[in-house]
Amino acid sequence: MARVAVVTGSNKGIGLAIARGLCKQFEGDVILTARDKGRGQAAVAALAQEGLKPKFHQLDVQSTDSVQRLTEYLHQQYDGVDVLVNNAGVAFMPGTPDPEKVHSGITFGTNYFGLLSVSQSIMPILRPGARVVNVSTTLCGTALTKTKPEVKDRLLDCTTIEETTEMMREFLSLDNEGTAVSKGWHPWAYVVSKLGVSILTPMLQYQVNGDININAVCPGFVKSDMTQNKGVKTPEQGAETPLFAALLPPFTEHPKGEFISEKKVLDW
Ligand code: NDP
Repeated sequence: MARVAVVTGSNKGIGLAIARGLCKQFEGDVILTARDKGRGQAAVAALAQEGLKPKFHQLDVQSTDSVQRLTEYLHQQYDGVDVLVNNAGVAFMPGTPDPEKVHSGITFGTNYFGLLSVSQSIMPILRPGARVVNVSTTLCGTALTKTKPEVKDRLLDCTTIEETTEMMREFLSLDNEGTAVSKGWHPWAYVVSKLGVSILTPMLQYQVNGDININAVCPGFVKSDMTQNKGVKTPEQGAETPLFAALLPPFTEHPKGEFISEKKVLDW
């Protein structure tokens, strides 16, 4: 069976640059995924113009059916997965009008629950030597400094995925009520969702044995639609650390379950 690498949300931005990098550096098939078929196929065509040959599969990380369809495809076609990059993400900038209070739900549905759903679906078919990369942000460390000690301590005391998920649900519920900040939480759903991802990563690592490395990474501040092109890095530069974590050599004992920034472990 051919080796296979999968990148979520890879029709544009950092995800597309990661898919491009994998096409060049990974020995095996690269599956470019997108929630929208047209946008995904356009990205595959753009990479084909560069002489690269990713395959396309639809994936909306918020849809259980879509996650299941991708997993079945990977199972049937490849009987396993060698690289999973959980890149798909959304961010509504602070102050964006949200009269129907849907932004936090979409943010968590994509960045935290979507990532968890894809990971839990694909982890049972990870092959020995597999690498999983969760794209997070160093902002989650900064966020902790703006989180009151009673919430911060509870977050950092989480020892299971269930406890972490419960804390994320608590934020969502308080945010909907408009009381998250007065109850000690950071005000921005985006960074809280990524904080959840960073806390979750070592817990996912504990669930696997042998030569499988699961790490969180920060790509840096990258010019993309998410940042309205205000970053300092190009998407290709932003893809460097995710690619580093995705391509860790066989039997790498460290980093495992860590947070990596600029290709170095960061104690966020
Ligand atoms: P973009 O907005 O350019 O790209 C986000 C990607 O995620 C798009 O392909 C988008 O698809 C996809 N996506 C959104 N929702 C879903 C979904 N439900 N299912 C599948 N795919 C989805 O952002 P970036 O490239 O900047 O960000 C990529 C990752 O890097 C994100 O996780 C982000 O949080 C993280 N990051 C980015 C930083 C930056 O400075 N840019 C800094 C730190 C972290 P569509 O085109 O359909 O919307």
